[in-house]
Amino acid sequence: MTKTEQLIQEAEASLLHTYNRFPVVFERGEGVRLYDADGKEYLDFCAGIAVHALGYGNKTYQDALTEQIRKLTHTSNYFYNEPAIKAAKTLTKLTGMDRVFFTNSGAEAVEGAIKAARKYAFEKDGHTDHEIIAMEHSFHGRTMGALSITGTSAYREPFLPLIGHIRYATFNDLESVMAQVNDKTCAVVMETIQGEGGIIPATKEFIQGVRKLCDEKGLLLILDEVQCGMGRSGRMFAYEHYGVKPDIMTTAKGLGSGIPVGAFLMTEEVAAHSLKAGDHGSTYGGNPFAAAAINAVADQFEKQDILKNVTKTGQYMADRLRDLQAETTLIKEVRGMGLLQGIVLSDAVKAGDIAKKALQNGLVVVTAAGNVIRLIPPLIVTEKDVDEMIEKLGRALKP
Ligand SMILES: *Cc1c(COP(=O)(O)O)cnc(C)c1O
Repeated sequence: MTKTEQLIQEAEASLLHTYNRFPVVFERGEGVRLYDADGKEYLDFCAGIAVHALGYGNKTYQDALTEQIRKLTHTSNYFYNEPAIKAAKTLTKLTGMDRVFFTNSGAEAVEGAIKAARKYAFEKDGHTDHEIIAMEHSFHGRTMGALSITGTSAYREPFLPLIGHIRYATFNDLESVMAQVNDKTCAVVMETIQGEGGIIPATKEFIQGVRKLCDEKGLLLILDEVQCGMGRSGRMFAYEHYGVKPDIMTTAKGLGSGIPVGAFLMTEEVAAHSLKAGDHGSTYGGNPFAAAAINAVADQFEKQDILKNVTKTGQYMADRLRDLQAETTLIKEVRGMGLLQGIVLSDAVKAGDIAKKALQNGLVVVTAAGNVIRLIPPLIVTEKDVDEMIEKLGRALKP
């Protein structure tokens, strides 16, 4: 038995079986490469699901975290801590928002965003029956609140009743959103680029139309940038491509580049009329260690000019994927932005099977809904890495 086989046997004896995992145990990483328990090398175009913005083994990042571990990892939010103060300043600047609350995950950021929107509406009119409009095929996380606005009924159904008062509209169809608005509506929530739903960017007309609708009707626009934010689209946050600003937004995944951390942010107007002392909290949220990760990531974005690489290599990746599309009947469409790209496969193959074959070829990719292969490498990936990915993926697509 290999070390991998042995570890998997042990894992399956005690872990709750909520994932159909690939039969690989990763042990260490370097740059955009991962190495498994038996020493096999992989090119990583998954990045822990769009998390490892800086790739593996960034020395400055590691040193900053190590130093923070030695100093102080946690204090609770009864007290202030300097790394969190710095991270809050940085993140409000990067997002153009005014106030931030730190969480430990994307789903928690979404929970906070929902609470902020409901509290804002409650403060305005004192009613307790407000509705939120969410999008079909959206994904916002697995906690009860986040699940309530997740537009895939199969994820929701076994856990009903959820928070309720949620209406669903069709992504990229402004009229379908308008049709759901009534005098109880308090917010519209969507991903700027749908991730799990199949890498579907919002159209400019749609997102600008929803922004205008929200302004006219006094609704809050909540943009979930947990996956598409933190540089992945080529801008720090994807809404910058559209010339719109949300009232409340969420971020996580790439934010800590491997340390579990998230945040929701809002404008001063929302902050002034929503969550007050006692309304929300988290034991760990924004602790010095997690905040040090955010600071180290933000620092590397600037020093390495990561956004420039995302734009350049993202364009290169899109071009090479289209070349690959021209060579095979199995790719129906290439779509996405920056280093968040999806290829839609024809019904002749299953994305999950292609991902498995790619893994055997030493390439890590994951799927998204709608028979899509998702390409979300570390943001430091090079054109040479893209060429290697294309070669390995191309081989996986051959019969
Ligand atoms: C991954 C994801 C979440 C949930 O984040 P977790 O950290 O897994 O809780 C929420 N929203 C979007 C858009 C995501 O992609």
